Amino acid sequence: MFANIEYLSTFIFIHTFSHILIKELEFLTGYPATSLSERLYVNEENMQGVLIYTMAGAEGSFGGLVSQANSERFLKILNSALARAKDCASDPICYNSEGQGIGGLNLACCYSCGLLPETSCEEFNSYLDRALLIDNEFGFYS
Ligand SMILES: [Zn+2]
Ligand SMILES: [Zn+2]
Repeated sequence: MFANIEYLSTFIFIHTFSHILIKELEFLTGYPATSLSERLYVNEENMQGVLIYTMAGAEGSFGGLVSQANSERFLKILNSALARAKDCASDPICYNSEGQGIGGLNLACCYSCGLLPETSCEEFNSYLDRALLIDNEFGFYS
């Protein structure tokens, strides 16, 4: 699935980005993460995208969710999601992990911080690492 390391790290980045956004939306709107799902659009030709959508028959305040969908709100959500991503109840163990979750495929990501309900994740909660986003040395948003 991952022919090169650049693609793998891009995939992990986009995937973790998607998870922290869904978690933040749940926190902000009260819309349960179990009713949200992700679709990742990543390829080796520089495509990086995330679709977060509600599942059929989902409950919650749909209006509250829709009102978040504009560029100004989005920046606030992202900033707040990144701040929250720095704080896992299992840190520093989680942050310094050398492999956790199914098959040890996650690094800095666990149920306390970045994992989603099974139905929300298209990758079985694998290939996740908060450090790619927030690490002080190499994180994209450091
Ligand atoms: Zn964690
Ligand atoms: Zn996922």
